[in-house]
Amino acid sequence: MIRNQALIDRLSEGNRRFLDAASAEGDVSPVLRRRTAAEGQTPYAIVIACSDSRVIPESIFSAGIGELFVIRVAGNVLDNHQLGSIEYAAAHLHCKLILVLGHTRCGAVSAALSGGGDGFIRYITDEILTAIGEERDPDAACCLNVQHAVDTIRREFAEHPEIPSADLDILGAVYDIATGKVRWL
Ligand SMILES: [Zn+2]
Repeated sequence: MIRNQALIDRLSEGNRRFLDAASAEGDVSPVLRRRTAAEGQTPYAIVIACSDSRVIPESIFSAGIGELFVIRVAGNVLDNHQLGSIEYAAAHLHCKLILVLGHTRCGAVSAALSGGGDGFIRYITDEILTAIGEERDPDAACCLNVQHAVDTIRREFAEHPEIPSADLDILGAVYDIATGKVRWL
């Protein structure tokens, strides 16, 4: 059941503007910068996205200063640092929409499909391999990786004393780096 349809519509509408305009941008005006500095931030969504330089949530959703609380990590995987960031934004900034945004042609997913990485990268590819199991199709693996993160967030915050799960939407989507479109899962 969707609880915050207006917030989801706002992301979708932002992506539509991004697709329509050659250089869609959110409001990054000095006025808004000063106002949010003085009054604090009230982002309307939490976005967990890959660090890939082609995947820029503020651009993809035509968002400006103070609108999105963005967590970026290669492969959009989660561990306790990311969960702590989500917890902060949901409990203290009262974000009611949490979006895990995977993307096409993700290097982290490709590395996992190729058997995993070396060094610190292995922490990321191991998490992706846990998410995708036996799946070897890149697009299907990407979706499974997003769904795994969505399931983790739902599980970890199911009974959180400061985050009423009855108010939350925790969703997954995949951004197509070729077309610019966001596909909701
Ligand atoms: Zn990626």
